[in-house]
Amino acid sequence: MLDTRELGRRPGSQRQVELTVPAPADLGIEVLRVPEGSPVELDLRLEAVMEGVLVTGTATAALDGECARCLEPISEDTEVTFQELFVYDGQDYSSGEDDGVSMLEGDLVDLEPLLRDAVVLALPFQPLCMDDCPGLCVECGARLADDPDHAHDEPIDPRWAGLTALQQEPGEQDQ
Ligand SMILES: [Zn+2]
Ligand SMILES: [Zn+2]
Repeated sequence: MLDTRELGRRPGSQRQVELTVPAPADLGIEVLRVPEGSPVELDLRLEAVMEGVLVTGTATAALDGECARCLEPISEDTEVTFQELFVYDGQDYSSGEDDGVSMLEGDLVDLEPLLRDAVVLALPFQPLCMDDCPGLCVECGARLADDPDHAHDEPIDPRWAGLTALQQEPGEQDQ
């Protein structure tokens, strides 16, 4: 929650706010997330407009996750930007429908939903340890990036080769 009292309500007044907050739970997606409680640096500009407070900001946080192909742990930083208008409480702003407008709660702005949306949108659907991660060896499970040229002496028994080909449905080969 961010207090906007010091900003005042005169349209045009602006304030720059920098603060660090602990990350809420479940900030991110299953395979890549900001660890709960880790610092999230917020760099915000608050701007009073007629209807409310316009919040424009940048959030910087550390991410933990694992590579979707080889399961190697990934640690990286992310920086996201966001902007949202928070309408003054008690104002009959919308036409009665809930059109997703964010409301100020008194003088307070709840940044968490905003932050959550911005972070989730910024994350890759399938995080990778490197852009062209080759994944794991289908025969022994070794991480191919560590040992790209390793080979297996015994090829698949030719008697089973036909069966293997049958089992490889399209779409299952890119694991
Ligand atoms: Zn990888
Ligand atoms: Zn192997």
